[in-house]
Amino acid sequence: MLRNDQLEQWDRESFFHPSTHLGQFARGEAPERIIRTGQGCFIEDRDGNRFLDAFAGLYCVNVGYGRAEIAEAIAEQARELAYYHAYVGHGTEASITLAKMVMDRASAHMSKVYFGLSGSDANETNVKLVWHYNNLLGRPEKKKIISRWRGYHGSGLVTGSMTGLKVFHDRFDLPLERILHTEPAYYYRRPDPDMSEADFVSFCAAELEALIAREGAETIAAFIGEPVMGTGGIVPPPAGYWDAIQPILERHDILLIADEVVTGFGRLGSMFGSDHYGLRPDLITLAKGLTSAYAPLSASIVSQRMWDVLARGTDEFGPIGHGWTYSAHPIGAAAGVANLKLVDALGLVQNAAELGAYFLAAMRTALADHPQVGEVRGEGMLCAVELVADKAARRFHDPAGKVAGAVVAEMARNGVIARAMPQGDILGFAPPLCLTRDEADQVVDATLRAIRATL
Ligand code: PLP
Repeated sequence: MLRNDQLEQWDRESFFHPSTHLGQFARGEAPERIIRTGQGCFIEDRDGNRFLDAFAGLYCVNVGYGRAEIAEAIAEQARELAYYHAYVGHGTEASITLAKMVMDRASAHMSKVYFGLSGSDANETNVKLVWHYNNLLGRPEKKKIISRWRGYHGSGLVTGSMTGLKVFHDRFDLPLERILHTEPAYYYRRPDPDMSEADFVSFCAAELEALIAREGAETIAAFIGEPVMGTGGIVPPPAGYWDAIQPILERHDILLIADEVVTGFGRLGSMFGSDHYGLRPDLITLAKGLTSAYAPLSASIVSQRMWDVLARGTDEFGPIGHGWTYSAHPIGAAAGVANLKLVDALGLVQNAAELGAYFLAAMRTALADHPQVGEVRGEGMLCAVELVADKAARRFHDPAGKVAGAVVAEMARNGVIARAMPQGDILGFAPPLCLTRDEADQVVDATLRAIRATL
């Protein structure tokens, strides 16, 4: 095994880390953490420090670390057939089985699944499919995509544009022209403190209507949204939000893309967030929980009504011009099959519902009365604690999240990993779906202690 100081030197000299302060890291001024192993909800670094990972990596290791069943499925697939492509009708037992398993879990109006590698590329696929669909229908002007401020949909050109967080736009010349943003379903940050939830839902619906009227419905192709907003602050929508938004989209013939990269495969305590909130999407974006991140794989599920148009298009124009070398990679697919079997066998969707409710209630009991905790919110195995300088005015300590960063650093010193969300002072929690009560209690306790020590 390489020595730690050797690894650290190579890391600082050679490795361009994503979402990292590059200068500080290269100069050795920002912390480095080299992770060596993981088991259940815990990871361990090279110095032997153990952490309870209350963010499941990047809300992706849903079944927990160290699952031998998935590791063995990956090894067996690599030995048998590491790779073959999926172009012009090729498949493998793993990719076909996974397609069947995904579609068995999707609602009846969905038709087929396309496999990619990441949440970003799946959203890229979905936008391309939307544009292609409208071209095939002879309405080339219907192309704009509406997403929400604070939404997160990836960090590519189109996906970074749809993402509604400043740090992903600034100095990258994003968002691109065809991408529009509307109000997020963020009741805590409503424009008027006297608004009821119902008033706020009407306000979001009116904002959307106004944007559509300004731009012209004939120019708008799709609306993309996460059933529960994740990276933008872990924000469950107020009651009735999706019931208000969907009819507007339907009335203007605007497709709905449900970005379920976080919420797919059980995180909300339902198989999909779309089931949880009664969404009827035309496209669903999936990644993370599809393989619990044991291998990179994403999925775009296409509705029957879109599929019919896409398939007719190929009858007229020939094979669809879209695909990656690694689409439906057999090793990712084998990981996905083993992972979804494990989710079922361990009853993890049910556990996410039960333990998630327990975790949220415990967090509320411990923190809700703290003078600098503005809100504790969550749904299923997602939870956020929003820190404020002034509870009555709902004023942030620091919009750049420095206070949340300090609390998270203190928690890590006490052996628990949470995430400082990228915009606002918000602590995020998204543990593996196999979390136990004892582990939930440990996370709550570490959060309370770190807030007391920091604020
Ligand atoms: N969509 C959502 C809702 C996400 O949370 C993420 C990543 O966190 C993505 C898309 C992008 O996924 P990836 O990082 O795999 O490209």
